[in-house]
Amino acid sequence: MSRPSEFELIARFFAPLAKAAPGAFGLTDDAAILRPSAGEELVVTADALVEGVHFLRDDPAETVARKALRVNLSDLAAKGAKPLGYLLVLALPDWPGTDWLAAFAKGLAEDQRKYGFVLHGGDTTATPGPLCIAVTAFGTVPAGQMLRRAGARPGDLAFVSGGIGGGGGGVQILKNNRPGIPPEIADELVRRYRLPEPRLALGAKLRGLASAALDVSDGLIADLGHIAEVSGVHIAVEAARVPLVAGLKELWAGEAVAKAVTAGDDYEIAFTAPASARAQILEAARQSATPVTEIGRVEEGEGIALMDASGREIPLPRQGYTHF
Ligand code: ADP
Ligand code: MG
Repeated sequence: MSRPSEFELIARFFAPLAKAAPGAFGLTDDAAILRPSAGEELVVTADALVEGVHFLRDDPAETVARKALRVNLSDLAAKGAKPLGYLLVLALPDWPGTDWLAAFAKGLAEDQRKYGFVLHGGDTTATPGPLCIAVTAFGTVPAGQMLRRAGARPGDLAFVSGGIGGGGGGVQILKNNRPGIPPEIADELVRRYRLPEPRLALGAKLRGLASAALDVSDGLIADLGHIAEVSGVHIAVEAARVPLVAGLKELWAGEAVAKAVTAGDDYEIAFTAPASARAQILEAARQSATPVTEIGRVEEGEGIALMDASGREIPLPRQGYTHF
């Protein structure tokens, strides 16, 4: 195929992804229509991936596409929302080639199927900067039930889903060429960096159970710190309880916990809940086949702290990833 125009590109690669959405009009209109069912509210969120910041030049187009959807699905998951549809803005530094676009669209199609998510429109533009993929995601919750960051109370317990540090470990391996750790462990860390797993089934079950929740994108400590701040409480995390992804002790030795809790790119759900809800939380974890670990407690005060086994605070050089 010779280089298609912007419109041919949309018709060929993106319109097929919008087929299942009547309100997307086959990507032939200026805008789309989204309608939540009666009694539901729309939950709206956006996350962009920039080459060199959120993915690497050599990452496969297919996983870059899927990560762009998954980081947004992770936000919906943490809010207890069910995926509905998304918009896709692509800023391309130059013509990426038909193969790249086909693989990119294939990745989108795969995760659309997996998560029940449908393309509703977007924009395509050239840029003098690096490749940028911006997704705006729409989900639904029963009216009034979106999980919030505000709401943690002294006496609550703190939990996290899945494993922590995998994204940070994976990106280090991609940049440093696997420094002497077994290939199957290195591959699993890279997989976690490229393909985080949005915890949608768990998130939906946390509605009405969690007192506060958010997705862990910048680092467990930084993100739980956001809950502490908007909830007006202190959160103490026990280092020994943090569920480290396998292989990080080999990669980071004695610094594994400190690095894992501040690395970012994990896309797990961190949340708080009253101690009386502990059994229900564990049941929600079982029913959604998602590991959940109790990692700390909410107290009066402010800020976030990582504690060692003797109850002393472990000093951290930084709380998480920041862009500026
Ligand atoms: P306009 O310039 O008039 O806003 P566009 O030419 O940008 O319209 O878009 C035409 C149609 O294609 C719209 O329905 C838009 O939502 C869709 N579209 C454009 N780029 C993308 C993209 N990257 N992904 C999905 N849909 C897109
Ligand atoms: Mg446009």
